[in-house]
Formats: sequence, structure tokens, C-alpha cells
Amino acid sequence: MISVRNLSYQYDGTSRAIQFQDFSIPQGEHGLLLGESGSGKTTLLHVIGGLLRKYSGTVSIQDTALNALSEAALDGFRGRHIGFIFQRNHLISALTVEKNLALSPYLAGLPPDAARIDQVLASLGLQEKKKSRISELSHGQAQRVAIARAVLNKPSIILADEPTSALDDKNCERVITLLTDVARQHGATLLVATHDQRLKDRISNRIDLTTAP
Ligand code: ADP
Ligand code: MG
Repeated sequence: MISVRNLSYQYDGTSRAIQFQDFSIPQGEHGLLLGESGSGKTTLLHVIGGLLRKYSGTVSIQDTALNALSEAALDGFRGRHIGFIFQRNHLISALTVEKNLALSPYLAGLPPDAARIDQVLASLGLQEKKKSRISELSHGQAQRVAIARAVLNKPSIILADEPTSALDDKNCERVITLLTDVARQHGATLLVATHDQRLKDRISNRIDLTTAP
């Protein structure tokens, strides 16, 4: 479950805070975060994901208010509860698929689990790419590795930032189906930020950041 109340965020060196509307998404449900470029979608995902800390208001994941956690506790919380699919995939291109995935539990302070890596790769149709370097994959395959990494630690929340913006219709359809399926399999709450109109009818719970004219 994600809950946002009275949230605003101000970047250093800017004159105005970005204000966000209140919303919550019950555990296991899916939400679409809509809004034109610059409306604050990435900022909001980064606050919910514990990557930006100096906000005012309350953001809770499950029943934990993020600003009640120390920086170290937040790092651990993020690693265990949150799977992030970034706008750029943030994979390490010189490393293999397997090594990129192994970093995820390592960074969260969890024990290595080779069987879990195999399981997730199989569920995303990527078994045969396990020993390939990211630089050897197509864009769509790398996107699937990014999704694999996001779900590896069995997060309760999956946050995806513009996961389909660079994709053609066929791959767009694949990725959104994959994301919703994977979230459903894990009982995870899914929040997808996008300005991609193709996703509008795929997730019924919508949070629109675009202010009315
Ligand atoms: P979106 O993802 O919807 O395109 P962003 O969250 O990236 O929107 O940006 C929201 C606003 O915050 C924009 O006006 C953007 O210029 C500003 N912004 C984003 N990142 C920074 C930053 N690091 N420093 C200052 N302003 C920023
Ligand atoms: Mg953005």
C-alpha cells in the first residue's frame, strides 16, 4: 500500500515547491501516474521510492512513514520493499545479466540466491540470456532485465518510470502486460508513471498530476 498526504517537494535552487495531490493505492492494486513532461512524475516516484528525502508531508509504504526512518534504515527498507524500473534502465552494460541481477540482493543486504535469479529469468523468458552482457541485448531484452531486477527481491511495491516511452506498440503491449502480470504474481502494488496515452486504458486507477487549466 502506498499513501501520499500533503506532499510537496522543492529542489535546491528552485523558487517553488511542487505540490502533489493526496492519494493512496491499496496493497496489490495498480495505479497509473499521468501528467505531461515536467509535472513531477519522476520526482514523486523518487520520493515514494525513498530516493529523495527532503520533502514535506507524509509518504507511507505499508504502514511505515518513510520520514520516520533513519537514512540507513531507509536504505534497507528500499532494498527489501521497493523495486524500481528507471526511465533509463541503469543496468551495467559491461556485466552479464546474471551479475547485474546479483547486485540487487547484495545492495539490499540480502544473501545471494542463484535459484531465485533463475526463477525470475525463466518467468521473463530470459534464461538463455543469463550469461550475456547487457551490451549484447536488444532494447526490449534489456528492459525485461530491468523488470527482472526490480522484482528479484520480491518487493511489495513496484515503481516504473516511463517504462514504455521508447517502445513500439508491440513491445509497449508486452512490457505493460509483463509489469501487471509480475506485480499480480507477487501481490505487489504497481505504480507506473507515464505520458504514454497507450497505457491509459490498461490501468483503471489513475492519478493525474496535470493541473486543470
Ligand atoms: P516529469 O517526470 O513529470 O517529467 P519531473 O519530476 O522530472 O517531471 O520534474 C518536475 C519539475 O521539477 C520540473 O519542473 C523539473 O524541471 C524540475 N526538476 C526535476 N529535477 C530537478 C533537479 N534535480 N533540480 C531542479 N529541478 C528539477
Ligand atoms: Mg520523468
